[in-house]
Amino acid sequence: MKRRHLARISFLFIVFLTVLAMHRNAYAAFSSTERIPYSDFKALIQQNRLEEVIMSPTTIKGILKPEEGQKIKKTITTVKIEDQELIKELIAHKVRFSATTNGGWSQSLFLLWFLPMIIFFILMARVRRGATGAGLMAIGKSRANLYIDKDTGVTFNDVAGVDEAKEELKEVIDYLQNPQKYQRLGGKIPKGVLLVGPTGTGKTLLAKAVAGEAKVPFFSISGSGFVEMFVGVGAARVRDLFAQAQEKAPCIIFIDEIDALGKVRAAAPVSGGHEERENTLNQLLVEMDGFDTRKGVILMAATNRPEVLDPALLRPGRFDRHILVDRPDIKGREEILRVHCKNIKLGKDVDIKIVAARTPGFVGADLANVVNEAALLAARVGKDAVGMDSLEEAINRVIAGLEKKKKVMSRKEQEIIAYHESGHALVAESVPGADKVHRISIIPRGISALGYTLQLPTEDRYLLTRSELLDRLAVLLGGRVAEEIKFQEISTGAQNDLERATDIAMSMVREYGMSEKLGPMTFQNGRRPQFLDLGYRTSRELSEDVSKDIDNEVKKIVFDTYSRVKGILTENKDRLETLAKLLLEKEVVEGEELRKIIDGKVTPQKQSPPPGLT
Ligand code: ADP
Ligand code: ZN
Repeated sequence: MKRRHLARISFLFIVFLTVLAMHRNAYAAFSSTERIPYSDFKALIQQNRLEEVIMSPTTIKGILKPEEGQKIKKTITTVKIEDQELIKELIAHKVRFSATTNGGWSQSLFLLWFLPMIIFFILMARVRRGATGAGLMAIGKSRANLYIDKDTGVTFNDVAGVDEAKEELKEVIDYLQNPQKYQRLGGKIPKGVLLVGPTGTGKTLLAKAVAGEAKVPFFSISGSGFVEMFVGVGAARVRDLFAQAQEKAPCIIFIDEIDALGKVRAAAPVSGGHEERENTLNQLLVEMDGFDTRKGVILMAATNRPEVLDPALLRPGRFDRHILVDRPDIKGREEILRVHCKNIKLGKDVDIKIVAARTPGFVGADLANVVNEAALLAARVGKDAVGMDSLEEAINRVIAGLEKKKKVMSRKEQEIIAYHESGHALVAESVPGADKVHRISIIPRGISALGYTLQLPTEDRYLLTRSELLDRLAVLLGGRVAEEIKFQEISTGAQNDLERATDIAMSMVREYGMSEKLGPMTFQNGRRPQFLDLGYRTSRELSEDVSKDIDNEVKKIVFDTYSRVKGILTENKDRLETLAKLLLEKEVVEGEELRKIIDGKVTPQKQSPPPGLT
């Protein structure tokens, strides 16, 4: 925006100068000079009133003979016309004449090109300087993006439901409070902490709380704020920011939306802001490498798109500490609601637990919104406390807003996902060749992944045996089978699982020679056959018979595994129920708990549906 503004100013300026130059050039409009038509000029010659004529390639200037009693000689100008007779006439009438080769030219050239250029460069220089010192007004305004807070006043008590993140940040606080202590021991402290998580989960709040807890100043700036500025300004501001911060150390520099600044360079669209962003990013990297942590400056940054970040930012010595700030589970939501209800007068009928249960997928900002909206609703109808009805209505309103963004799922969907994920998890724990389950979650995240079962490999694997591949296949099918067992019906949620399952079976047959019927042969060089079929026929054309055999073998592997999984889950139907119900209640179940259920330590409860859910 501002860059365009400046361009417009310069453009207008050049237009102005051009008009002026042409004006002068054409008519040589000096104050005592009269512009006259060429015919009048010729008449003056005929009348013997001209004393001298000076010709330039485009204009003719004439000096009149002084009239009686006048001291000042009047001058006139006219545009030069191709006139063969002129010189003869001038000679005949004894007019002195001369010519300048470039008089008019040099003047107009100067005005047309050099003067505007000089002025433009002066302007640009001022703009560049403006980034660090006082400058143009526009710069002064954008400096407001940099936000400095001597004391944020935010503490860890204001941030709820992110206990793991808080735990990790305690070290940073301790360090900011006692940089000397760490210095003495030569301990290494992270320079850059990257907070990763969806928008509204409290990343900014958390960074402020770290500053508040450590009682240090908080510098914050948004990554997108850098990008819209003039060439060179972003980099200058980064320098400026670090210089200021080092003066105020110990302190925190917080860069919100760092992805706007630190996008992978090649992936960036070629646009005007591209080069500028790169300059700014490079300056940031330079500053990060240059500053000494012992001075007590900690850099924090937030992003909801870590995958687009330039790897250079994540290298050791830069943002090498990553902290996940995820959507809160039901317990976290309850805590967040309590934080925001602190200063709100609640009715006796309010049960925060129910509100938490009614808001799956909500982030902290959404919950703050619910409480605020409820207070407004209650006030509008003149109530003296915020009752459950106001909260319910507020939830509905916020859901309506969120539904546009597709974040909220219905109770029925939640149930399906709970059984689906339980299926994955139980199969993973029942077969020997699958990775152990670390965590199961049905908290909606993003649009594509509904829930997830996180398996962590216990060791790095390079080789997989046939039975291990089959076990992996089984885990993938577990979700679908669980849905079938519970609801006698299947949903579209398993599509990705089935794709991956088919991939595995396909690879087993085509690449690894693991099919009994086709034997130890490979039939395709590529790794992902379904993509490679598009114009990528490998050296070995397959006969129709072999193709059919491959299809049959793949089918057989998938179907055999399917019935195996069905056997496992039918046998464990009680556990499936227990686990799914626990998931619906808590939304997140850790691997430990899951294994307790499998060991039968958690008995199936005769459970009423969780509170508040219909
Ligand atoms: P982010 O930086 O992750 O997008 P913010 O920190 O800007 O999110 O959160 C916006 C607001 O939402 C906060 O000011 C706060 O009122 C509320 N909020 C978000 N997360 C939490 C949380 N974990 N605990 C309490 N309030 C939260
Ligand atoms: Zn699945």
